[in-house]
Amino acid sequence: MFENSQESRTNLSELGEFGLIDHLTKNFSPKLESTVKAIGDDAAVLNFENKRTLVSTDLLVEGVHFDLSYTPLKHLGYKAVMVNLSDIYAMNAKATQVTVSIAVSNRFPVEALEELYAGIQLASKIYNVDVIGGDTTSSTSGLMISVTALGIAEEDEIVYRDGAKPNDLMVLTGDLGAAYMGLQVLEREKEVFKANPNAQPDLDEYTYLIERQLKPEARKDIAPLLKQLNVRPTSMIDISDGLSSEAIHLCKSSKVGANIFEEKIPLDPAVISVCEEFEIDSTMIALSGGEDYELLFTISQDDYDKIKGNPHLTVIGHMTEEKEGMHLITRANQKLPLIARGWNSMEDKQ
Ligand code: ADP
Ligand code: MG
Repeated sequence: MFENSQESRTNLSELGEFGLIDHLTKNFSPKLESTVKAIGDDAAVLNFENKRTLVSTDLLVEGVHFDLSYTPLKHLGYKAVMVNLSDIYAMNAKATQVTVSIAVSNRFPVEALEELYAGIQLASKIYNVDVIGGDTTSSTSGLMISVTALGIAEEDEIVYRDGAKPNDLMVLTGDLGAAYMGLQVLEREKEVFKANPNAQPDLDEYTYLIERQLKPEARKDIAPLLKQLNVRPTSMIDISDGLSSEAIHLCKSSKVGANIFEEKIPLDPAVISVCEEFEIDSTMIALSGGEDYELLFTISQDDYDKIKGNPHLTVIGHMTEEKEGMHLITRANQKLPLIARGWNSMEDKQ
């Protein structure tokens, strides 16, 4: 599982930069009406008529954001697109196009980049976005991928981080902590593999966690769901760094406080059992683990009945006056200050 085994190996220099771009992008044909010109000219041309345009970029660096010893390149391509689409969905908008830029060393054969692009293509197909361009350059060692996502929304549909009001309810999609625990399982298996390369890991019981880490799905479904329920969030953010740091972002931008109830935080049973196995507190993982790519948003209390009982949505707390601060209310009814221990600082502590 830990090697991206390549049966044939074509050196990048055999294709050259332009040959490589053609080769990798030959199957990308634009599908959306808004894509007037995609790959193949000096710039892409888009037509969004009178809609607002949203743009978001992320850069992923080998050794910092991903480890190729356990990340299949196809998954990496998929994830690179997901993390960007998630930012567009976090604005309550629809993602439409992406650009993909890569810096790559000749350590990678053409076949490896084909895998990466197979993942990008799969993501673009499932999420109905066009790949409209990018850039390709060499790197002296590691792989870098930068994706820019574009999206559209009506002006009055866009949801910012700064609209939450005291007494609004805090709502979360999906469940938390699985991606971080998936990473812990993969890191542990990497160490086992280093010590004994013949070890056959049995990862069946961790499938959900590993999938959440390697192949996350962005919440494309939430904006249409909220529209259907006739709920307009007052603020929204995606969970890339853990619940507490994202909740703090919403509170600071909106100038409000918050109470989050520990007992309400949704956890998958697989997260609870793996946290017992690793002897880690699952609430801490939900608060400080990262990469779940769920959405956190606030709604007016008047809208509670519209979302009540929806299997995708959990009310985990409420906003308060700014001066009351940001707190976690524990199961034992203790009031602890929320602290932003993002995913990186947690890594440093281990
Ligand atoms: P330029 O010299 O103008 O930067 P390039 O030769 O780099 O043009 O790119 C040619 C076309 O291929 C452009 O449409 C560009 O957006 C696209 N392109 C380049 N690299 C990539 C890539 N890695 N993925 C997708 N499209 C790419
Ligand atoms: Mg270029």
